[in-house]
Amino acid sequence: MHTHIIPEHLPRFAEKFGYGDFIHLVHHRPGFANMMKGEKFFREIEANCWDPQLRIDEYATHHTQVQVVCTIPVMFSYWAKPQDTLELSRFLNDDLAQTVQDHPRHYIGLGTVPMQDTQLAIQELERCKEIGLVGIQIGSNINDQNLNDPQFFPIFQACQDLGMALFVHPWNMMGFHKMERYWLPWLVGMPAETSRAICSLIFGGVFERLPNLRCNFAHAGGSFLPTIGRVEHGFNCRPDLVAIDNPVNPREYLGKFWVDCITHDIHMLRYILQTAGHQRVTLGSDYPFPLGDLTIGEFIENSDLSKETVEDIFCNNTLEWLNLKKEQFM
Ligand SMILES: [Zn+2]
Repeated sequence: MHTHIIPEHLPRFAEKFGYGDFIHLVHHRPGFANMMKGEKFFREIEANCWDPQLRIDEYATHHTQVQVVCTIPVMFSYWAKPQDTLELSRFLNDDLAQTVQDHPRHYIGLGTVPMQDTQLAIQELERCKEIGLVGIQIGSNINDQNLNDPQFFPIFQACQDLGMALFVHPWNMMGFHKMERYWLPWLVGMPAETSRAICSLIFGGVFERLPNLRCNFAHAGGSFLPTIGRVEHGFNCRPDLVAIDNPVNPREYLGKFWVDCITHDIHMLRYILQTAGHQRVTLGSDYPFPLGDLTIGEFIENSDLSKETVEDIFCNNTLEWLNLKKEQFM
């Protein structure tokens, strides 16, 4: 339920809009492209980032048929002028919808929307639904605004009303420029970002006010679940700081949101299953990126988890999160 895809060719948005470090692709050798952020090299990607059939074939080698696809977070571009992010989002979403339409038994799509503009975000969210996407992926913060900020509430409300699922992915990592060495934004910043997102949605009362919002968090919820004891203790010992917008104990929300299983560690996964609930852990891979689980749940298959639990993680829980039926993919 957590894989990334990008169109093979991107317009030169920076030239079109006349500003900004929008991502563009340079296909410098067969089967590979450099993602460029303005003039700066961001990362090299392979054809499995954009070629739907190649992805299906690679997934088949791991006995996996269906991929939930969304864009690469660097494409969010929330920093741009809202109209321009809308145009970029529409381009990416149309490409996603085409992939789903061409391979309906293999792909499920989550769109992207200009979160920095409430009205445009809802407009594109509605369009995402019309073109066959079943939810959206958003960042863990929006231009450093936390997800409890009132401007985002109508977007979450629209997700609930339209039955669109929400996938929260860490991006724009806190402290990025203070810890660039050793890939720390990815290793330290990302888990913290996801906890920041979950805590903001809990303490800001978003989950409380939108009980039917179906929300899933990347990388097993980052550091949130491993630190739930501390978070709850903070809520109890300093309610004057923590419980100012929502009087409900954060532990009450366990089992009400989904997380993926990307832990690379069966002991941690067992803890996540216990804490979030067996029905709330979904098979994520972060494919095709190297920090992901590129053997697609092999460590779960090789574990002593019960057959039922493995089946729930591999299939049933994602279907429940997205409100889809298994038969659609048979
Ligand atoms: Zn990811």
